[in-house]
Amino acid sequence: MTTVRTSPSIGIIGGGLLGLSLALRLRAVGYEVVVYERAPRGGGLAAPWSIGEFTWDKFYHVILMSDLNVRRLLDELSLTDALRWNTTRTGFFTDGRLHSMSDSMEFLRFPPLRLIDKFRLGGTIFYASKLSDWQALEGVAVTDWLRRLSGERTFEKMWLPLLRAKLGENYGNANAAFIWATISRMYAARRSGLKREMFGYVDGGYETIVGALERRLAADGVELRCDAAVTRVDTTGGKQRITLADGTRRTFDSVVVTAPATHIPELCPELGDPEKARLKAITYHGIVCASVLLKRPLANYYVTNITDAGMPFTAVIEMTALVDRERFGGNALVYLPRYLTQSDAFWEHDDATVERLFLDALAGMYPDFRREHVVAFQVARARQVMALPTLHYSTTLMPAMETSRPGLFIVNSAQIPDGTLNVNETIGLGERALPILRQHLERRR
Ligand SMILES: Cc1cc2nc3c(=O)[nH]c(=O)nc-3n(C[C@H](O)[C@H](O)[C@H](O)COP(=O)(O)OP(=O)(O)OC[C@H]3O[C@@H](n4cnc5c(N)ncnc54)[C@H](O)[C@@H]3O)c2cc1C
Repeated sequence: MTTVRTSPSIGIIGGGLLGLSLALRLRAVGYEVVVYERAPRGGGLAAPWSIGEFTWDKFYHVILMSDLNVRRLLDELSLTDALRWNTTRTGFFTDGRLHSMSDSMEFLRFPPLRLIDKFRLGGTIFYASKLSDWQALEGVAVTDWLRRLSGERTFEKMWLPLLRAKLGENYGNANAAFIWATISRMYAARRSGLKREMFGYVDGGYETIVGALERRLAADGVELRCDAAVTRVDTTGGKQRITLADGTRRTFDSVVVTAPATHIPELCPELGDPEKARLKAITYHGIVCASVLLKRPLANYYVTNITDAGMPFTAVIEMTALVDRERFGGNALVYLPRYLTQSDAFWEHDDATVERLFLDALAGMYPDFRREHVVAFQVARARQVMALPTLHYSTTLMPAMETSRPGLFIVNSAQIPDGTLNVNETIGLGERALPILRQHLERRR
């Protein structure tokens, strides 16, 4: 009698770019893979949505030249020809005025800083771009590090508003590796010479990427179950069992959770108390981000950093400074993000209030802006976007991929202590997890 040998099976919780790219890799080495996504479709933070009659990313995304993991994935999905590159400009809204800060000359002319401040700022960025020992920076508060290197005035005028823009009021608890990672990513994106930024996107935005990934997974035999919220993972007969919100259950040789760390204790009640306590202690910040379709562009900077206090959003992202406006029927697509701590009262605002506050502020920033220019205004919210890299984060809080439950793994963005949150890191994280998962699954063959 012949015995039929089945491939080891793995269930992935979360159909964001991490879950989907990991599924692709695991399937390629022969496992049975099912991805569970609670939203109606995959993509997570990079999912598309409709803005007026057009479809683009719910949250703004760009691809950098140095995003080699993303570019490799695009190649595998035959999307390299759909990749478009453009130079973009950067603006600063400081002391009530817009300034261009897109090249070295503009940096030297930038009025809000004195020459000495500029040298210290440039020196800090250059120094950070040359550092490689990020672990040594984890023990230093980002505020102390930047004050020491750039001086008090540059810290107050530039770094503090930028930290607030990225981390909300959590900035005081972040370590210096965070700003090192941010600088390293941006530095890698710049071309030599004029040092202008070169940003990329795929024709059609992440809709194209997620769609191609979903089709490839289906063709390869990966099951992607959308509208499938997982409510519990537990152990049964040496396997991991997933329970969905509708009560259906399925067992796997392994389960990987890509959901935010703070959700995991409730999802996986069998984890040990110290593990649960550590996961719960991770601080996430979230975002409220408006997508605004306008009849006219604002100033055509891809990013306008805002250093003035009291603005309801923390930057202006003009997607159509990168993407051809023809894609949006000649309109301009602008994102207005505001990063928030979990306890910020801003979460309570309804869409109409966010719209009023944001449009009032836009009118204050851009004298030519008129309410009649607004074609569509939509508000997206994501409560758990990024784990805050607190002091000594990688050794005190960062979750291990292997848990105390054999076959239950955590692979999520809280495991990126030395990078910023971006799709390139996310795909790289999945690739780092692959040998650990395989080691477990190969024993099941
Ligand atoms: C405002 C903003 C701007 C960004 N800009 C860029 C950029 O310019 N370039 C770039 O490369 N990256 C950018 N990123 C980062 C990028 O979006 C992320 O790195 C990436 O999408 C993270 O993917 P993920 O799969 O780890 O997480 P997520 O996308 O959060 O996916 C996790 C998924 O798990 C699902 N889930 C959670 N719990 C359950 C459950 N119980 N059952 C089933 N499903 C569940 C969620 O619905 C979600 O889809 C940006 C992010 C934001 C928010």
